[in-house]
Amino acid sequence: MQAFRFDAIDLPQEAIAARARVRAFLAEEQTRRDFVAYRNSWNSFDPDFSRRAGAAGLIGVTWPGEYGGGAQSSLVRFVITAEMLAAGAPCGAHWIADRQSGPQILRHGSARARREILPRIVAGECYFAIGMSEPNSGSDLAAVRTSAKRDGDEWVINGQKIWTSNAHRAHYLIALTRTGEAGPDRHGGLTQFIVDLARPGVTVRPIRNLAGGHEFNEVFFDDYRVPDDRRVGGVGEGWRMVTSELAFERSGPDRFLSDYRLLVELIERLRENPDPRPDSRPDSRQEIIIGRLVSHLAALLRMSTAVAGLLDRGENPALEAALVKDVGTAFEREIPELARLLVASQPSFDAEDPFSQALAQVMLHAPSFTLRGGTREILRGMIARGLGLR
Ligand SMILES: Cc1cc2nc3c(=O)[nH]c(=O)nc-3n(C[C@H](O)[C@H](O)[C@H](O)COP(=O)(O)OP(=O)(O)OC[C@H]3O[C@@H](n4cnc5c(N)ncnc54)[C@H](O)[C@@H]3O)c2cc1C
Repeated sequence: MQAFRFDAIDLPQEAIAARARVRAFLAEEQTRRDFVAYRNSWNSFDPDFSRRAGAAGLIGVTWPGEYGGGAQSSLVRFVITAEMLAAGAPCGAHWIADRQSGPQILRHGSARARREILPRIVAGECYFAIGMSEPNSGSDLAAVRTSAKRDGDEWVINGQKIWTSNAHRAHYLIALTRTGEAGPDRHGGLTQFIVDLARPGVTVRPIRNLAGGHEFNEVFFDDYRVPDDRRVGGVGEGWRMVTSELAFERSGPDRFLSDYRLLVELIERLRENPDPRPDSRPDSRQEIIIGRLVSHLAALLRMSTAVAGLLDRGENPALEAALVKDVGTAFEREIPELARLLVASQPSFDAEDPFSQALAQVMLHAPSFTLRGGTREILRGMIARGLGLR
C-alpha cells in the first residue's frame, strides 16, 4: 500500500511575497477595470486580463528565465492561482497553458517548440486546449482512436476529439493520438502532438453547455499535417505524458475554488439575515454548516499545498492529486446545494442580487465539476489502487 503524502508545508518567503504582489495586482484590476467577481473564474476567458497578468509576471512563474519564466517554486504558483480564483478574476484564457500544456512542452517538447511557444504563454498571449477525450474514449483514455501516421518529417492526423474546452479561442491544442499498437497493458502506441488550430485540416464545432454557453467543442482532424518537432515526448510515450499531465490538472486550487465566490455571497447573505431559528437542531444551524464548509476548505488548501510541495521536489503526485480532486470537487458541488437550502431565493442570470445570480450560474455548471478532468469513479479507482484495495 502506498501512503498518501500530505506533509504540512511552510510557505517560503517568495510565496508570501507573491501573495502580496498578486493581491496588489488584483486590487488594481478591480479599481481600474471594475471587474465583477466571476463565479466560475477559470472558465472566464479574457485575453486582455491574461496579457496584463503576463506583464505582471504572474504566468509561467516556475519556468526558467530563458523562456521568460520566473524560475520560482511551485508554491509561488500555487499562491498566485489560489488568489486569482478567490478574487473571481477572469483568468481562463491562460489557465490551461500555464497549468499543464506549458509544463509539458518545457519538459518534453522540442527546442523549437519551447523557444517559439513558451515566451508567448508567459506573456499571456498564447492559449491552449486539451485534446484527450473522444466520443468513445473519456474515462477509458487508452481507447483513443484518433490516428497519427508518419510521413517523412511530418505526421498526418485523422479522427475526432470531444469536450475540448476553449478550442474555438485557443491557439493550440495538445492532441493524444494513436501511432501504434496498444500492447497487452493497452497503454502503448500513444503519442502527443501540438496542433496549431489555425492551420488547415482541423475543424472546431461548438457544443453548448447546460447554461447555454459555448465553452467546449468537437474537434475534427482531416489529414492534418504536423511537423515532427511538434511532438511532445517520444513516439509511443503518450500514456506516460498524459498521466503526469493529469496530476497537474487535478491537484490545484481550481479543484475546490471554482465556486468560492458563491460561498462568499452566501456568507454575506447570511450575515444580513441571521438564523431566525436559534433553537433549531445543531446540524441544521447556519453557522455550523458554514463552519464545516470553511474547515473543509482549510483542509483542502493544506492538501493541495502539499501536492505543490511534491511537484517542487520533482515527485509524481498522481495519487494525491486524485484524492484532492475527488474531495475538492465534492466540496464544490456541496456549496450550491447548501446555499439553496439555507437561503430562499429565485436563482436567475437576470436576478438583481448577486447571490441569486451566482447561484443560478453555479447550479448550471456544478454537474461538470466532478466530470471534467476525470470522473469521481475513475479517481476512486486510482485511490483504491493506491491503498492496495484492487
Ligand atoms: C466541463 C467539461 C470540460 C471538459 N474539458 C475537456 C477538455 O478540455 N479536453 C478533454 O479532452 N476532455 C474534456 N472533458 C471531458 C472529460 O474529461 C470527460 O467527460 C470525462 O473524462 C468522462 O468521460 P466521458 O464523458 O467519455 O464519460 P464515460 O467515460 O463514458 O463515463 C460515463 C460514466 O461511467 C462511469 N465510468 C466509466 N468507466 C468506469 C469504470 N471503469 N468504473 C466505474 N465507473 C466508470 C464514469 O465515472 C461516468 O459516470 C471535459 C468535460 C467537461 C464536463
